[in-house]
Amino acid sequence: MSAGGEPYSEALSVAARRAAEWLASLPDRHVGPAQSAHDLAADFNGPLPDRGMPAAAVVEYLADKAEPGLMAMPSGRFFGWVIGGTLPAALAADWLVSAWDQNSGLRYATPAIAAIEEGAGHWLLDLLGLPSESDVGFTTGATMANFTGLAAARWRLLADAGWDLDGDGLAGGPRIRCFVGQERHETIDLGLRYLGLGLPIAVPADAQGRLIPAELDRLLAEGSGPALVCLQAGNLHSGAFDPFDAAIEVARRHGAWVHVDGAFGLWAAAVPELAHLTQGMALADSWGTDAHKTLNVPYDCGIAVVKDTTALRSAMGLHTSYLIPDAEGPGDPFEKVPELSRRGRGVPVWAALRSLGRDGVAAQVRGLADAAASIGSRLADVDGVEVLNDVDYTQVSLAFGDDATTRAVTARVIEDGKVWMSGSHWRGRDVLRVSVSNWSTNTDDVGTAVEAVSSALAAVRAAG
Ligand SMILES: *Cc1c(COP(=O)(O)O)cnc(C)c1O
Repeated sequence: MSAGGEPYSEALSVAARRAAEWLASLPDRHVGPAQSAHDLAADFNGPLPDRGMPAAAVVEYLADKAEPGLMAMPSGRFFGWVIGGTLPAALAADWLVSAWDQNSGLRYATPAIAAIEEGAGHWLLDLLGLPSESDVGFTTGATMANFTGLAAARWRLLADAGWDLDGDGLAGGPRIRCFVGQERHETIDLGLRYLGLGLPIAVPADAQGRLIPAELDRLLAEGSGPALVCLQAGNLHSGAFDPFDAAIEVARRHGAWVHVDGAFGLWAAAVPELAHLTQGMALADSWGTDAHKTLNVPYDCGIAVVKDTTALRSAMGLHTSYLIPDAEGPGDPFEKVPELSRRGRGVPVWAALRSLGRDGVAAQVRGLADAAASIGSRLADVDGVEVLNDVDYTQVSLAFGDDATTRAVTARVIEDGKVWMSGSHWRGRDVLRVSVSNWSTNTDDVGTAVEAVSSALAAVRAAG
């Protein structure tokens, strides 16, 4: 006997109503959470009751009790870390993905998801100007997208050195020398650690955090053997991009594989006015990005792009008797990501791209950078505010004299709750970091951000 839609309809209606209420609260609510996980433990972390609860009541309970512990991350006034909001088409498509409940690893088993994700993949390669023959895999986030690219690199570099990684493992094989910019995201180190590649060699960076190609050249020349170079599109503190043309030329001369971590910066390539930032980036071998940041699809969604499809499918694929492999050519989704079973997380990407169109993607990314530039230039005019970086992309790092004042202003901004921004540490100083990542951030939100920082500084000075 089939359950049909009936048992679901009431719970789904509650979820839709409560989701709409949450979204409607975003323009006005205090951005930070009102309660801590500790406060909420009594509601969620008691003994599991013996008796069940109707589905609609479970959803209602969740919405009621969780609300005080939610941060308004999808709000246009949220400028913390690098956390995008979610586009309406992407959110709704994500609900459909859950209802469809397709195990998306095999092309044969779920042709619709495969076709949608392949379409999204082709659009992405085109938008970002990456080699059209590349494989595209949909991962949980950029950490795993980078891991995927690095795994393909490891396979290729060892195969070219005559070492059978799959048969013999890493031990006793040639050491892969890994080079990263001094200011890479630390999840690159994590990916290298997952892969057993050890600690990377950090290449010195310039004042904006960009890797210095001459230093890369010098360090590569100090040794020999297989080499892997990780470059970055989008520095967390400055938004800066590594100089791809020069760095990739150096890497090529030393026979290295080049991977680009472009978690939020890869998208600059879709904007004609920003494309100079990613000049030369397409000459790398693999790229990792997030769709849940700059593109604004719901968590969790990252994208791995690898040009050497043999290396990727060798690193990620598997061959068993019960899987029915794709015979037509583009390969199965499971060969391009670490997971076998997974949700159709590329569907919200397709929906986001389709709802925006090529021009809309460019306008969205340009809008984030314009908002950051506006926040940076307006705050630079406020007495006592230092803008520490060149605001070329979506990130602004601010300081207010000494570290103690910067920390006090950061705490005050968060406590006031009109906006939310992260405290961080960059180039030896505490900073207040503004990251513009939400499609819905508008000129009012920019004004609110400028006002929130200025008045927090005034309050700290008055108290000091
Ligand atoms: C966010 C980020 C990552 C990690 O991405 P997740 O989606 O959190 O896994 C890696 N690199 C950079 C530059 C990032 O901004």
